[in-house]
Amino acid sequence: MHNYSRVYVACRFPPEVLELFVQRFGASYNDTGRVLTSAELVANAQGMDAIIITATDRIDKNVVAQLPSSVKAICTYSVGTDHIDLEALREQGIAVLSTPDVLNESCADAALLLMLGAARRVIEGAALIREGTWTGWSPQQLIGHDVWGKRLGILGMGRIGRAIATRARGFNMQIHYHNRSRLAADIETGARYHDSLEALATHSDFLCIACPASQSTRGIVNANIISRLPAHAIVCNISRGDIVQDEDLIQALQSGAIAAAGLDVFAGEPDIHPAYRTMPNVFGLPHIGSSTLDTRIAMGEILCTGLEALSAGAKPINQVC
Ligand code: NAP
Repeated sequence: MHNYSRVYVACRFPPEVLELFVQRFGASYNDTGRVLTSAELVANAQGMDAIIITATDRIDKNVVAQLPSSVKAICTYSVGTDHIDLEALREQGIAVLSTPDVLNESCADAALLLMLGAARRVIEGAALIREGTWTGWSPQQLIGHDVWGKRLGILGMGRIGRAIATRARGFNMQIHYHNRSRLAADIETGARYHDSLEALATHSDFLCIACPASQSTRGIVNANIISRLPAHAIVCNISRGDIVQDEDLIQALQSGAIAAAGLDVFAGEPDIHPAYRTMPNVFGLPHIGSSTLDTRIAMGEILCTGLEALSAGAKPINQVC
């Protein structure tokens, strides 16, 4: 049985989260105030049993090949694992832990924020207040779209997708979804399954993207899918930016083929497509889906508990491989 007691925290945590790793493992940590280079990550991993990373730390084949043999676990402070070469780590016998479930509710809150913010033209409204350019109430000003009672299409009805559906039912929305496999009826709770993204798009006043980024999802929200959305449609993305073909979405937003977008995530973060910065019908947020203190602490807790389980010879509930 391996003891996972030498821990290096490579990412930059809020103090409350860092404290968990320092108290429970005497962890050493990245105090540079920036994301480490791969070379720095590998250097700091020397002699460690486990390293704690996040979505901005890329663990590709090259990095895996350079990891010291002491490293037996990679803990990612994220539920997405698209920044990690899982296969290469599996081959090396290195365990991977992530943070499932504990961020569902904060991410689902953020998804509703995206829907409401885009539908109710929050960017334009907030600018009138902040810039002092509001000339007074009028029945014509900033006419938006109802969220209440509309059809919500969820691409990726997993843990976060289902938490979004729960909230949307409170808005009397009709829930539609697409996964590769249909959910059991008790989990579906009345949501309507579509066996293709094309079919989902034709039934979506709001299309909310909540599936992982993977080989099978990169770029799938493209011109073909967007052209099937109704003209008043709003596209929201709470999962990963590279699921969307930026040029196609931007073209549809600029031409009025769809109404608006609410985006928490972008391809190439933080160097996002510049058009997203200026379009009035884009409600953009800087990847804050899980960014609440309660969730941040819960994400730290689940990684610490997972490492302790590994040390006890048990399989952690958050072990990916
Ligand atoms: P999850 O429970 O694994 O759910 C993912 C869902 O996507 C599943 O229902 C899955 O169903 C579906 N899916 C996977 N591949 C698909 C494909 N090719 N086509 C259609 N559906 C597909 O994941 P989760 O915990 O809800 O997290 C989802 C993603 O959210 C994460 O991977 C992460 O990238 C992102 N995220 C973002 C933030 C943020 O801050 N914005 C925070 C946390 C997570 P099938 O397997 O049946 O297809």
